[in-house]
Amino acid sequence: MRKMHKASSLTVVTLRLGNNCKIRKGKGHLWKRVRAGTKGKVGKEVIEAYLAGRSEVVVVDWWGSYYLPLKLYMRTTPGRRKVMDVDTKAESICEEVIARNPGEPEFHQAVREVVGSLGPILEKRPEFVEERIIERLCEPDRQIIFRVAWQDDEGQVHVNRGFRIEFNSALGPYKGGLRFHPSVYLGIIKFLGFEQILKNSLTNLGLGAGKGGSDFDPKGKSDDEVMRFCQSFMLELHRHIGHFTDVPAGDTGVGPREIGYMFGRYKRITNRFEAGALTGKGVGWGGSMARTEATGYGCAYFMEEMLKTLGESFEGKTCLVSGSGNVAIYTIEKIQEEFGGKVVACSDSNGVIYDDKGINLETVKRLKEVERARISEYTDSHKHARYEEGGNIWEIPCDAALPCATQNELDEGDAKKLIENGCTAVGEGANMPCTHEAIRLFSDAGIAFGPAKAVNAGGVAVSALEMQQNAGREAWSFEYTDQKLQEIMKDIHITCYETAEEYGTPGNYLNGANIAGFLNVAQAMLAEGVD
Ligand code: NAP
Repeated sequence: MRKMHKASSLTVVTLRLGNNCKIRKGKGHLWKRVRAGTKGKVGKEVIEAYLAGRSEVVVVDWWGSYYLPLKLYMRTTPGRRKVMDVDTKAESICEEVIARNPGEPEFHQAVREVVGSLGPILEKRPEFVEERIIERLCEPDRQIIFRVAWQDDEGQVHVNRGFRIEFNSALGPYKGGLRFHPSVYLGIIKFLGFEQILKNSLTNLGLGAGKGGSDFDPKGKSDDEVMRFCQSFMLELHRHIGHFTDVPAGDTGVGPREIGYMFGRYKRITNRFEAGALTGKGVGWGGSMARTEATGYGCAYFMEEMLKTLGESFEGKTCLVSGSGNVAIYTIEKIQEEFGGKVVACSDSNGVIYDDKGINLETVKRLKEVERARISEYTDSHKHARYEEGGNIWEIPCDAALPCATQNELDEGDAKKLIENGCTAVGEGANMPCTHEAIRLFSDAGIAFGPAKAVNAGGVAVSALEMQQNAGREAWSFEYTDQKLQEIMKDIHITCYETAEEYGTPGNYLNGANIAGFLNVAQAMLAEGVD
């Protein structure tokens, strides 16, 4: 909690003093302060020493993309609007979110990462602070939690939990995927839903944000079991979704098979062929060409654009792509087949495949899309390749790393290893795959870093194109849709690039994505009034 002390002519605002702080000093504009040095634990006497002869000193902690103030010492300046309000506000918002949403560390992490970037925009647009836009953004419009009971092939009854978090509809109907995975709980769905707000905003396609799913594990289940689960899930979900309301799609554990079963049940319950109520449908019954490929292709398109700004490309680069699911497969495909890179490793939750000739995608697609097998079986048909059970993909030397599996899969130790091994670019294909310590290391080492909400926005972008085709009763060609995807990813790239520059952090795509995404939503929320 914050306390105010009077210390001679100084006001001391105590936020929260922790370890690993850095001291920054300066006067006037808080966000333009020059870093003063001093890494490590910060004692009070150090702060007092810094205060001598200065108006303000801020102790900050690094939160992924920006220094988040923990403690601020300042001279009282009566009658002047205090610059420090923005910083204390940012910290107090984060503390409030943590207090209001206990036990949801992934959600806290996502909020911190975004709020940590917003200082410069809040300074420029104080009305966002006054209208409590961030606080409203952090509180979902609606949180739906429900029971999903279903029977397995032996007639045993199982009970899972279903979620749909309708986070924000300032820009359009709620939009975001459904995840079926045993790790799913409220905090995971909320972090994904929160990220989705800014991601969808960056696409400029008129999309609000939501996310849903269940702790159901489709792995090892028969098609009939998956169908019964999906039908039971939709029994509740149908009340909340619709073309103009909320449009779910796939995510981890939810592909065309699951979307098909859910769409079938939605149609049966509502007696409407409402194609725009779900995206990721099969081509031939309302689905879009290139939706399956969209997230992975989009990831490669964004990263290629980013490399271009550095005078580079994927051509000839050795890459690592974690995971072997939807995002990983099509990221690998685009890098290898169009951009001339070589992906030497991929993985699943059991282990890592290393193939120095380049991953054979035909094999991975057969194993993962057809047989639903384990990646370890890759070596059956590629004897020269190596499989390491429980291995760490980030220990393999590479030029570019693309985490495409799951949240927090790349931590500080992994980042150190990648940097040591000469990696120069990292692109987040998965949602929040890098911890904030890892991002800090990448930033300090000058590594080109593409943040998830920009890099993997291609999936939701083509979902919006699917809705557009459904509304117009059209079916575009693969080439046309892919061309549109490419244009959207280029636009997102340039938006992030220019915004980072405009707000004083050139090359920091995380700041660029957070600020640009936030700005669209915040302006819409202001215009739509308090509700
Ligand atoms: P998916 O098809 O279910 O594939 C996920 C892959 O990651 C699987 O190969 C899985 O292996 C692997 N994996 C999971 N946990 C792992 C771990 N701890 N270590 C190594 N591998 C692990 O899911 P997806 O659709 O590709 O989604 C992947 C990520 O991208 C998620 O963060 C998702 O939210 C994000 N994303 C997806 C889309 C989309 O359109 N699909 C769009 C935007 C963002 P197992 O099979 O062993 O579990």
